[in-house]
Amino acid sequence: MSSNPVAETVASLLPRAKAELTELVAFRSVADFEQFPKSESEAAANWIADALRAEGFVDVALLDTPDGTQSVYGCLPGPEGAKTVLLYAHYDVQPPLDEAGWTTPPFELTERDGRWYGRGSADCKGGVIMHLLALRALKANGGVPVTVKIIVEGSEEQGTGGLERYAEQHPELLTADTIVIGDAGNFRVGLPTVTTILRGMTLVRVSVETLAGNLHSGQFGGAAPDALAALIRVLDSLRAEDGSTTVDGLDASAVWDGLEYTEEQFRSDAKVLDGVGLTGSGSVADRLWARPAVTVLGIDCPPVVGATPSVHAGARALVSLRVPPGVDATEASKLLQAHLETHTPWGARVTVEQVGQGQPFRADVSSPAYQAMADAMAVAYPGETMQYAGQGGSIPLCNTLAGLYPDAEILLIGLSEPEARIHALNESVSPQELERLSVAEALFLRNYAG
Ligand SMILES: [Zn+2]
Repeated sequence: MSSNPVAETVASLLPRAKAELTELVAFRSVADFEQFPKSESEAAANWIADALRAEGFVDVALLDTPDGTQSVYGCLPGPEGAKTVLLYAHYDVQPPLDEAGWTTPPFELTERDGRWYGRGSADCKGGVIMHLLALRALKANGGVPVTVKIIVEGSEEQGTGGLERYAEQHPELLTADTIVIGDAGNFRVGLPTVTTILRGMTLVRVSVETLAGNLHSGQFGGAAPDALAALIRVLDSLRAEDGSTTVDGLDASAVWDGLEYTEEQFRSDAKVLDGVGLTGSGSVADRLWARPAVTVLGIDCPPVVGATPSVHAGARALVSLRVPPGVDATEASKLLQAHLETHTPWGARVTVEQVGQGQPFRADVSSPAYQAMADAMAVAYPGETMQYAGQGGSIPLCNTLAGLYPDAEILLIGLSEPEARIHALNESVSPQELERLSVAEALFLRNYAG
């Protein structure tokens, strides 16, 4: 790779990239303005807008999206008649969770053991830097041969759908021949991977009520219908004995035909404790990318400290169901709702309310853009062949873009390999991955221009 001029340029730009990522990570741009002030997100958006202007982007704007956040847009016109590529990233981040649990402060980019630690370093502020590096490398080596549009979302982690709705209202804005979503990640460090499927998701809130008010468990327990017990029972009905997800009427037998994920590798990536088994049936890849998966995200009930001897009158839970391509998220939602209603015991009153939804996504890997990316990855990662993997998370915008621009090809790459520990404590990015993927993206743009 050292003989490639684009790669040499990217390598020389890496110290500057680190300084820029340090600035970007320092913004506490969590798009939940009850937790973090909106000014932090605005400052991050302005930083990106300034960076785009400095690279010669035109029409740079902070777009006010319907969820009260801002996405940053810009366009770098290419040669006459050139194809258009849309590059995506997001600047909002997950909250740091327990700040004291971080080895180094979450909003101070810190180098340790060859990685750069900080919230958003990989997901997805590093993706912003990757796009900038790729464009600078091309500009230093003959120019950018395509028209580039950039959209950097401000609320991806919130699932509030601001950019999706904005894009639907302004369908001409993001038109492109190919879309590169820089918010995925290699299967492992050093193995070039495009994500070809994303699971969709439905999110429901289930409430159970049994009594006019809480009762003393000494006096009434045993005969009085306990709402918390009813909730526990109905939630448990969503899993088989082996932990597989069982929603009445929802297929859970599909198989994954891409890259295989060994149980050993998965245990290590997920940091499963010794002696604890995995859940589900089929291969690990089947479970992650081809079959539905339910998770109870939260339960409202008394905390242990301060709990009283009571039979509970009411309890509620937030339930997420991830759905693979081939399953319609709306249909899955209905089945989940019906399942929860049917399996609630003792005639308890149950209400199920849908609070979120995103459709699954599947890419067309036979397209010219995929070939251009495979050739670029082969140069950026010498000796490796580009792999296809799925990703458990959803990026709802993917479906919006696929729906708005059915002829556009969509590629998902990025810095969120397993060691990045995105969304967790001590998130980090691999500088080598940033370097190689920036080279890959630059060469992809060149290959794709033809
Ligand atoms: Zn992300």
